[in-house]
Amino acid sequence: MHRATEFRLEARPRLPEVLAQLDVLANDLFYSWNHGVRSLFARIDLRLWQKVEHNPKVFLRRVAQVRLDEAAEDRAFLAEYRRVVSAYEAYLESEPGNEVLEALNPSDSLVAYFCAEFGFHESFPIYSGGLGILAGDHCKAASDLGLPFVAVGLLYQQGYFIQTIDAHGHQIARYQCHSSDELPITLVETGGTPLTVSVPFPGRDVQARVWLARVGHISLYLLDTNTPENSEEDRNLTLQLYGGDSATRISQEMLLGIGGTRVLHKLSINPTAWHINEGHAAFQILERCRMAMANGLPFGAALEWVAGSTLFTTHTPVPAGHDIFPRDLVEHFLGPYLQEAGLEFQDVFALGSKNGDHSFNMTSLGLRGSRFHNGVSRIHGAVASQMEGDIWPQIPFGENPIGYITNGIHVPTFLAPEWASLFNIQAPTWKSELRNREFWQFVDRIPDYHYWSVHKALKQQMAEFIVRRLRRQHTRNGTGHSVTERMTRKLVSPEQDALVIGFARRFATYKRATLIFSDLPRLERLLTRPDQPVVLVFAGKAHPQDKPGQQLIKVIHDLSLQPNLIGHIVLLEDYDQAMARRLLSGVDVWLNTPEYPKEASGTSGEKAAVNGALNLSVLDGWWGEGYEKTNGWAITPRDTGLDAEFRNREEARDLIDLLEHEVIPLYYNRASQGYSKDWVARSKASMKTITPRFNAQRMVMDYVRHYYRPATRQGLRLIENDARLARDLADWKARVRHAWPRVSMQVHGCVTDRCFWDESVELKVAVDLNGLAPEDVRVECLVAPECIGTHAEPGPEAFLLAPSGGIDGKTLFTTQIQPPNPGLQTLRLRMYPYHQALTHPLEMGAMLWA
Ligand SMILES: *Cc1c(COP(=O)(O)O)cnc(C)c1O
Repeated sequence: MHRATEFRLEARPRLPEVLAQLDVLANDLFYSWNHGVRSLFARIDLRLWQKVEHNPKVFLRRVAQVRLDEAAEDRAFLAEYRRVVSAYEAYLESEPGNEVLEALNPSDSLVAYFCAEFGFHESFPIYSGGLGILAGDHCKAASDLGLPFVAVGLLYQQGYFIQTIDAHGHQIARYQCHSSDELPITLVETGGTPLTVSVPFPGRDVQARVWLARVGHISLYLLDTNTPENSEEDRNLTLQLYGGDSATRISQEMLLGIGGTRVLHKLSINPTAWHINEGHAAFQILERCRMAMANGLPFGAALEWVAGSTLFTTHTPVPAGHDIFPRDLVEHFLGPYLQEAGLEFQDVFALGSKNGDHSFNMTSLGLRGSRFHNGVSRIHGAVASQMEGDIWPQIPFGENPIGYITNGIHVPTFLAPEWASLFNIQAPTWKSELRNREFWQFVDRIPDYHYWSVHKALKQQMAEFIVRRLRRQHTRNGTGHSVTERMTRKLVSPEQDALVIGFARRFATYKRATLIFSDLPRLERLLTRPDQPVVLVFAGKAHPQDKPGQQLIKVIHDLSLQPNLIGHIVLLEDYDQAMARRLLSGVDVWLNTPEYPKEASGTSGEKAAVNGALNLSVLDGWWGEGYEKTNGWAITPRDTGLDAEFRNREEARDLIDLLEHEVIPLYYNRASQGYSKDWVARSKASMKTITPRFNAQRMVMDYVRHYYRPATRQGLRLIENDARLARDLADWKARVRHAWPRVSMQVHGCVTDRCFWDESVELKVAVDLNGLAPEDVRVECLVAPECIGTHAEPGPEAFLLAPSGGIDGKTLFTTQIQPPNPGLQTLRLRMYPYHQALTHPLEMGAMLWA
């Protein structure tokens, strides 16, 4: 049969003059955290709004003219529209607070933030999971605070995959192209022509266009290679997030790091502090070195300057989260660029090598090319210090320069509007008190019945959402409505108000989604008690190449259909930000059972807590700091040295014990009012303790104080006076590196082994400096009290020794110390290279002990 050619024609509505600002609102990601903007679109045509998956730009193209015309005549609508528009304008006009102005004045500071993914909203699918959402939240909070801040990323035409789960529980990955006019972005032009940057690749230059996404006060620039100047293959370089092979990955990372830096340069944007968020963006270090070298600096000095103004954040201890490229691949891909840049391959390779092997690690490059480094929770900071300890080979892990800032979430994005309305009544200034723990005591003043009614309404909305999604899923799979009905019977019964436990996140194996099923008969008894039913809701994507992760999906799928469990386990497909908001504000308990210490931070539990859900989690990541006994439940991880199967079994038993003896009884301890007062008390404790600590404003201000401001200052200090300090530092380091292997130290004479507490003890050390000057090193004595019993030991105190003459060609360093502690104490003598221009005293990774 012959089919006629189809032509597509899109008939767009005209936006009435009075509603012209809708177009502006649709082009600012402000809508992703401002519920008022989103509800304007929903009010014009709710069904269409849902159908276009909350995408304002698509909505404005598809909406019927008559709906717009009606809205333009509707006085109530217009009043709301004007209120929203003026709130938006007021937001844009708001000035940064003193706290920001004092730390980072916009007149002379600017932070550049590079990341491979950004998750703002479901309508802008250029994220895969936690890292992207965190980057989005970071930008949003930077905008709220009025920080001088610019972000750089890649525009993936297809983004991450869309997940469906078929009738057999198999994950199907589907990709959908998003055309640029469906996204909240505009093409960046200079003088009427599109801005492009070009990056040298093997045998050709690759061109990238640049898009601007507005995020309130700040700009996000996104590069994309889908332009006619490129070959077909190159046009697809930025097609998918985390797609393709390692050649695709390194290409994308060259575009992000090198291309992204070129974009800022072409736009005359000159950051003073640079934040590399995860290894993907670390190639920016090379491009910034190249630029400094083009201005006359030698490589060493260029690197010192670049590193001194750079922060590198590592986000996971899991190997799959670190890009490691074979040497040949790096040589092939970077070769032409390095040649053009005048950079030596050996120098560059040394920055990324790990343990001297033949591969190039982007995390190592990030760490060696920056002088500020952090992990994303207290536990993760310590784990990262160990994992990356080889960068500072002679430094004890606890002292190397990796610090931590615990992740926080953007509250306006993830707090359900129903809670926000309640807060508006109870504590109208809550939005400006996000970091004030005292202020959040107000939660206790909310009447219990009122508190519970908000939660119950949200839970009901979640149940309706789940029914809709399951229906769609089962209809497509041909499994029919009766399955959906049986699966959701417990969930939708308001009389029963079953306890709902949620678990949604990427299906990576270390997250142990199926841990709760370890003792199935016992779990089944707990879930299915007629008077106390429990429902588990699961969702999440597994990376298309992660077969074990996909197997977890299948296990849960199969369990959810078992006749004895049906109605107690629900598995939803295509987890995204819209679903996250629904689940996190609707469940009673949020479950997380990662394998310690692999959950670097985790953030979804924080989103649950601000919405009144209680966390039940392994003490890992943020929960290691957030758990305060009365604000949720904790599973203590077993020793990591133990056999994995044993650990799983033990931790699973703790989990089920908690459910049986604490969680379920507390929830069902309902009095005549129909809810448990004790549950509400715990929920309030969770909301009021977690909201003010684990939010993105607190996080970003921590970054400002601990990293952005010091990096800005250090960068300026190194570059002023024709980069005198950067040059000195580089020369000095070269000298020290050369001399260090033959530097040595010995205790000179003998050290008294007892004295009275008010006497001093003399210490003398003879150092062979191997040509270094006495002021090139620091010699110190660490004094620590003897450890008594199981008391935590306070850290050692350090006393500096001063050079005082020489003996036998060696330099003597001496000091008199008065014992800082009573009784027995240990003294240890050590030495490390020191220069006043160092960012961190131990950054060279060199240290000797006597
Ligand atoms: C918050 C969020 C995540 C990250 O959650 P984790 O607890 O860190 O796993 C992933 N995906 C979406 C859609 C989110 O909103």
